[in-house]
Amino acid sequence: MKTIFQKIIDREIPAKLAYEDEHCIAIHDINPQAPVHVLVIPKQHITRIAEAKADDQNTLGHLLLSAAAVAKKLGLEQSGFRVVINNGRDGGETVPHLHVHLLGGRPLAWPPG
Ligand code: 5GP
Repeated sequence: MKTIFQKIIDREIPAKLAYEDEHCIAIHDINPQAPVHVLVIPKQHITRIAEAKADDQNTLGHLLLSAAAVAKKLGLEQSGFRVVINNGRDGGETVPHLHVHLLGGRPLAWPPG
């Protein structure tokens, strides 16, 4: 069964697009936790970071470079931002399709909750 993100990639359900290229899509989170909250999602299905393989190295590198490019595009370069990958139950993962959260637009507390 397709995940919600696969359905967004396949244009079966709508999302507010922040960026797209051959390898990934970036969408604004439906339940934003900061003024900027974007999800950068590889088009290739990887369930979660713990299940990524050596062959996924290029995809993973592209994902992080894309997150940084989207941060710049959305004006976060000077103020700063955070990238987060939730993995598994304790990590807070709710959608089993790898994605990077890009958060910014306000000071973010550390440690996270
Ligand atoms: P996770 O908890 O797996 O790290 O992150 C999943 C994220 O996807 C959550 O922040 C949640 O708000 C977001 N999300 C879930 N369903 C949708 C949707 O249909 N559209 C968008 N844009 N975001 C979604």
